[in-house]
Amino acid sequence: MSYISENLEQVRKNIKAAAEEAGRNPEDITLIAVTKTYGTDVMNEAIDLGACDIGENRVQEVMEKFENVKPVRWHLIGHLQKNKVKYIIDKVELIHSVDSFDLAKEIDRQAKKHGKVQNILLEVNVSGEESKFGINPDECEELCRSISAEFENVKIKGLMTVAPFTDDEELLIRVFDGMKKLAEDIKEKNIPGVSMDELSMGMTNDYALAIKHGATMVRVGTGIFGKRDYTK
Ligand SMILES: *Cc1c(COP(=O)(O)O)cnc(C)c1O
Repeated sequence: MSYISENLEQVRKNIKAAAEEAGRNPEDITLIAVTKTYGTDVMNEAIDLGACDIGENRVQEVMEKFENVKPVRWHLIGHLQKNKVKYIIDKVELIHSVDSFDLAKEIDRQAKKHGKVQNILLEVNVSGEESKFGINPDECEELCRSISAEFENVKIKGLMTVAPFTDDEELLIRVFDGMKKLAEDIKEKNIPGVSMDELSMGMTNDYALAIKHGATMVRVGTGIFGKRDYTK
């Protein structure tokens, strides 16, 4: 068995165990295999092993790899610049990292051109770390309202966050619970065209914890493919 198949099996087991421990259905959790820095051969191997969702954080990498990767759902999980939306609009299932009205506006414009409705998540910075992208939690409802009122070709499906890289479990739990509560609060407002069914949170170091605290999508890279080599 290859290391990818072993790792993938282990991650799936961990997801199932975390879901069951939380009284949740493991099938409600989508595993996104994060393939940044990895080659298309490795990606295709994972796809053959049943990975149906692939996450990339750079537009450039999506474009370089797209033609050489077997059919799969692509997720853009990294910061997205307005002027690059046009390159990925016809390729991605879900954009996790929308953090402004203007970005949503450009996504809407490009989606219209392609006759598509683009599903998005709003990226939230719940931990308040300065280095991170994402909107403040208290801006989230207003942004949901303005985007859904203005744009027909963009649909908000939920929220995403990148939690701090830390072993501090209590801090992580505060972040994940904060996200869950924010999504629930917005859901209660019944904003037309906005659903809050997806919570994208949890990475290699903390996905089990994220699942116990409400994640519906986990983004796992290192845990499947091994350590990344950024020098290539
Ligand atoms: C790289 C990346 C991940 C995956 O990180 P791992 O620690 O390798 O699992 C998840 N989310 C985002 C936004 C990333 O950029």
